[in-house]
Amino acid sequence: MMRQYELVERVTSYDPDANEDLLNRAYVYAMRAHGHQKRASGEAYFNHPLEVAAILTELKLDDATIAAALLHDVVEDTAATRQEIEEKFGHEIAELVDGLTKIKRLDLVTKEATQAENLRKLLVAISKDVRVLLVKLADRLHNMRTLEHVPPEKRLRIAQETMDIYAPLAGRMGMQNVRDELEDIAFKVLNPDAYATVKKRLDRLHEESGGALLEIEKALQAKFTENGIDAEVSGREKKAYSIWRKMERKHLSLGQLSDIFGFRVIVPSIEQCYLALGVVHRTWRAVPGRFKDYISTPKQNDYRSLHTTVIGPHHMRVEMQIRTRDMHEIAERGVAAHALYKDVTDPRKAMNGARVPAAESNAYRWLRHLVEMLSEGESPKEFLEHTKLELFHDQVFCFTPKGQLIALPKGATPIDFAYAVHTSIGDSCVGCRINGRHKPLATELENGDEVDIIRSEAQVPPAAWEGLAVTGKARSAIRRATRAAVRRQYAGLGREILDRLLAKSGKSLSENTLQAATPKLGHRNVEDALAAIGRGELAASDMLKAMGIEVKEAGARKKRSAAARPKSESEEGVPVRGAARGTALAISLETGAVPGERIVGILTPGQGITVYPIFAKALEKFDAEPERWIDLTWDAAAEDQRFPARIKVTIHNEVGALAQVAQTIGESGGNIDELQMVTRGVARDFFDLDILLEVHDLKHLNEIMAGLRARPLVSAIERATG
Ligand code: MN
Repeated sequence: MMRQYELVERVTSYDPDANEDLLNRAYVYAMRAHGHQKRASGEAYFNHPLEVAAILTELKLDDATIAAALLHDVVEDTAATRQEIEEKFGHEIAELVDGLTKIKRLDLVTKEATQAENLRKLLVAISKDVRVLLVKLADRLHNMRTLEHVPPEKRLRIAQETMDIYAPLAGRMGMQNVRDELEDIAFKVLNPDAYATVKKRLDRLHEESGGALLEIEKALQAKFTENGIDAEVSGREKKAYSIWRKMERKHLSLGQLSDIFGFRVIVPSIEQCYLALGVVHRTWRAVPGRFKDYISTPKQNDYRSLHTTVIGPHHMRVEMQIRTRDMHEIAERGVAAHALYKDVTDPRKAMNGARVPAAESNAYRWLRHLVEMLSEGESPKEFLEHTKLELFHDQVFCFTPKGQLIALPKGATPIDFAYAVHTSIGDSCVGCRINGRHKPLATELENGDEVDIIRSEAQVPPAAWEGLAVTGKARSAIRRATRAAVRRQYAGLGREILDRLLAKSGKSLSENTLQAATPKLGHRNVEDALAAIGRGELAASDMLKAMGIEVKEAGARKKRSAAARPKSESEEGVPVRGAARGTALAISLETGAVPGERIVGILTPGQGITVYPIFAKALEKFDAEPERWIDLTWDAAAEDQRFPARIKVTIHNEVGALAQVAQTIGESGGNIDELQMVTRGVARDFFDLDILLEVHDLKHLNEIMAGLRARPLVSAIERATG
């Protein structure tokens, strides 16, 4: 195990200003926190964070990153809390450790390869700070290096995850070495046979040509010195996985692969890169089509080098990469090099030679952003502290309990989530648990949330949900479901009206006759026809006629022309005193009027008398015409005679609300003659019902209103005043 002072020395060797006290405290704190915990290998757990920190010192990262690496597992795996980390190590370190804890909690199980891209985005989004990703990659690298101690099944899963997510992420961050190693270990676990074949072949080639390689290296070095070039030459061996990938991609056999061996030439300046290339090409024959100038045209991840392949001694094909020290740092360390490269005399010179490729992919935009930040002249330290990863800020990524990843726009709620999974899940959603806790459906989802939708098949999405959803899919589905539910409620009401009419004649509703009558009335199906009756668009009596049923209509219930003449023309007559015999009498349907309440008549010459209750607003119109006012009093009504009374009811918009209202009225012996529903407010969570009832008298009306008032879903009820 690396000693405390060794770690500190490593950091101060590349960063003399590093906070040694911080490093020492983090070391001791993490060691104590992990205590006697053991890893799968049996060694002390603390060895793991220490190795992760060591990997990051190779990338020459700052003291805060190294401290975060030492502490990266303490919140999740020990009694330590985020608050304690904040108190002891400050906000910056606490934020870094927090990011790492969140990623760890995700337990990124790659159920499907199609999820990999989203999972990578999620990682980036959660990390917020590029240093969190750097520690995470180092953490993964150390876990991969010690993978053999993990049970086989878990080993496969971790290797697949590494191949799908972490290796490509390292590649996108330009960290070629980390990527190569991650891929190589994962390859070995996932495809041991292929790995063994490639490795065996590589080893044999190495054995056969070992002497020759050394010979070439020496020859190269001598040639460069001869030409006054201060070059550093090193032999380079490709990893098994990158060879395997090339074989797969180009359909080559191992024997056809020329560039298994290569050399790296590092020189002090760009001029010397081209000079060195000239020396190489003058000394050995270049293989046509193999020269690439990534200095004048860098790769998207800012990789710059000259590449060439020559036929060297013993007719061996030798691949060569020629670059400056700066370019080498970036090629090896990627983002880490950008993040903390302190020896760049002029960052613009180092970074800005790169032209932005025309078709820059989104995947590199954030890396580009990092590079731009640096080239704007901020110091590396400021750069690290203030660079938040801004990519994917308009998205949140959440999980289903089974680990499926759902990408949603920022601001999305569990309702959006439910509809994103499946329309039927959205339609039947009644509640949710987020990360295991019950939460309101209006909760704004956060990255990494695990959302469990609670469902009920009896549910109909309330119209008000439309305001809680941000995705078009959820909004249109809610609208559709609400429309269907309202239609169903009206249809239920229509059925109730029909039933009552029939019951009066001692008949019952036959589905077959109903079915047969529907097309005659121009409706496509029974539900449509019933809804039309419920809405008052189709008279129940017309339906009965179409069904071939003769129903005697009694008294006030006779059909009336609704809007044009709001009057009830009574066959039996309105039982009042005070009007001349033979005068036509009708009760105003704006309010209705029932025995027991004070009434007044308004005479319209040539038409008759309209009866109003004394509180009717319509009476104000006749204030200036006292001659039209006629005093009326109720007379005894016939036994089962009914009178109209209009009421206004405000109800909560919930499943079956309308049916409850109809049922309450029916139970009290009232009839619904007309019903209209008006949505209320922006939230659409309440409805105003305008109901024209038929009742015996004021006492009966009051009973019905009291019955409705007793229903919890009724929020207000009043008599219409016209
Ligand atoms: Mn770890």
